[in-house]
Formats: sequence, structure tokens, C-alpha cells
Amino acid sequence: MPTFPRSYPMSGGDDRHSYINNSSYQIAAINSVGDKTRQCIIEKLDLPLNSDLGSFRIADYGCSIGPNTFHVVQSIIDAVKFKQLKDKNEKSLMPLEFQVFFNDQPNNDFNTLFRTQPPSSELEYFSAGVPGSFHGQVLPRNTIHIGHTSYTTHWLSNVPEHVDDKNSPAWNKNYIQCNNSIEEVTKSYKVQFTKDMKLFLEARAEEIVPGGLMIVLGQCLPDGVSLFKTYQGILVDTIGDCLMDMAKLGLTSEEKIGLFTIPAYFPQFSELKTEIEKNRSFTIETMESVHHPLEDIPLSNHFLIAMFRAILSTIIKEHFGEDVIDELFDRVAKKLGKYPINFKECEKNVTYFILLKRNE
Ligand code: SAH
Repeated sequence: MPTFPRSYPMSGGDDRHSYINNSSYQIAAINSVGDKTRQCIIEKLDLPLNSDLGSFRIADYGCSIGPNTFHVVQSIIDAVKFKQLKDKNEKSLMPLEFQVFFNDQPNNDFNTLFRTQPPSSELEYFSAGVPGSFHGQVLPRNTIHIGHTSYTTHWLSNVPEHVDDKNSPAWNKNYIQCNNSIEEVTKSYKVQFTKDMKLFLEARAEEIVPGGLMIVLGQCLPDGVSLFKTYQGILVDTIGDCLMDMAKLGLTSEEKIGLFTIPAYFPQFSELKTEIEKNRSFTIETMESVHHPLEDIPLSNHFLIAMFRAILSTIIKEHFGEDVIDELFDRVAKKLGKYPINFKECEKNVTYFILLKRNE
């Protein structure tokens, strides 16, 4: 009997301060579902793992610059190899060759991704970078055996219609995110999310072979909960408040803030499920909320600010200019120092794990 694939430690040793704080929140979730991912692959992957398959092809959609994607990919490969040994027959004695496709937007820093990849002597797979939006097909039809994506599908392809139009009931006022406090704004975001989720799943249905799997990990809201009641929502609203303080001092303008909204939408759990069920090419094998290892630990202001700075600074810079960033996040730190987030009173968001199987 082969031994069970190893699990991966928390990422470390990377001193790119801002990135690692963003990345480490996600790798904590990725690692915590590692056993589940491996188990699902072993139980649900419905493909003959033998030489008839040619190479075994994996794609990570929205891979960013590493290192999380490397952990994920290795974990998937370990599970497939384990399954191959377990199901062994004459044809499967030949080791599989693995090909991994790393997908992200064309402006992703693919150079860093490939430079920081484990050394080629340790790599068990051939790598290829695939630039392009995952809201469309980025790989040939019927080629991928396992697709994976984590912490990506809340990113919308566009800012939803009317939320930056002062004359519309869907104007998001001076909020910089859809925090669910204005119904018309939430509706407009939902319309965009529905379109994007449909495109994402249709594209994956083209690329993934019948019997292949798609793993989706991410964050959403529990049913009935608004984003402004969670600490993540409160934190981004605080960033918006600090921008307003800066506008009062002439460091930016209210007008600019009124035109700025982050194109990210966190659906509620059932809402997400409904959108996925609309796609008839996949069957939901598993959709559950999982425990996030950082859920029970009070997070320091320093950690939270570094995490949100890493996530949001590019998009804030694009709209307000590079100069605002240091001042803005200093102000956020001061505001949170003075008015700390009461974590006990906050609603918790949900970390979800979804396993989809491509229908035959
Ligand atoms: N999956 C990684 C990174 C998540 S950060 C992890 O779990 O750690 C979100 C990533 O999704 C970013 O790298 C961003 O560029 C990418 N992304 C967002 N929208 C995308 C799109 N439409 N197409 C491809 N990648 C996208």
C-alpha cells in the first residue's frame, strides 16, 4: 500500500512583506483543505490513469506569482500518483507525465512565478504560463484533467453598471466596495457576478475533459449576512473613511472617491450554489464551508492592514495615484488603533470548498 501523500507546511521564508501577508491567509486555507483535496481526487477522479491518457494536465486559474500555486499543484500531483498506485493495473505501471498550466491576467508577474518555482531538478511537471482572463477560454477544448482556483472568483471582470453614476439609484456613494448597505448597489453587483460566474464555468466546461475535476476554494458570506457586518467589510469601509478624511484635507477629492468602487463581490453561500447549479456541464460533488485556521485567532491590526494593502494597493494606485498609498494606510493604522474592530461582534464569513465533476 503506498503511503498517503504528504501535506505542506505554511509558506515562509519570503520577505516580500506585503505579499506574504496576503498570500499566507490564503495558503492557510489551502493547506487546511489539503487532505480534503487529496481525498476528493482519490475518490472522485473518474479517469483511467494509464498510458492511454497521454500526459496528465492540471491548470491553476488565477495563480498569481506563487508560492501558493506550487503547493496546490504538488498536492494535486501527489494525490493523482497515489491514486494511480492504488488503482494499479498493467497499463498504469508506466509513470504519468504531468503538465501544469499557470493562468493569470496578462499583467501578472509571470517572471517572478517562474523564477521562484522549485528548482527543475525537483519539479515533477512541465510548466507553462497561460496569460488571459479566466472569464473566457484560455486553454484548448477537452485538455484539462484537473482544474483548480483559489480566492479568485469574487474578482469581477468589470465595475458593475451605474455604481459610479451619481444620478443612479445604484450609485455607491462614497463607499469603495459593495458592502451590502445599499440594495440597488448589491443588485447591480449581483448582475455582474452572475454574468462572470456563468462565463467562468462555461469556459472551464470547454477545457476540462469529461470525468475531470474542478476544485474551487474561496470566501463568501453566510446566508443572510451583509459584508459590512464582517471584519473584512469593516476594514475596507475604514479604508474608504480614511480616503474621505484625506479628501477633506485636499489630498484627494470626494468626486474621485464617488467614482471608485472595487470590482469584487462576495455572494452569500446559497447564492453561489445557485449560480453554480445553473451550469449543467458540471455536477457538484462537494460544496461545504470549511474551517479557516485563522478564524479563531484574533488578527493584529498590523497583519490585517498588510493583508488588505497587498490586495488593494494596485487598484487604489491606479485610481488615486501612487502618492496616496503610504498616507492612506498610515491613517488606517491610526484609525484602527483608536477604534479597534470588535471581532467578537463581527459576523464571520465563510471559507468554502467546492468540487465539481465535468459530466460525461
Ligand atoms: N490563487 C492564488 C492567488 C489569489 S489572488 C492564491 O490562492 O493564493 C487572485 C488572483 O486572481 C490574482 O493573481 C489575480 O490577478 C487573479 N485574477 C483575478 N481575475 C482574474 C481573471 N479574470 N483571469 C485570470 N486571473 C484573474
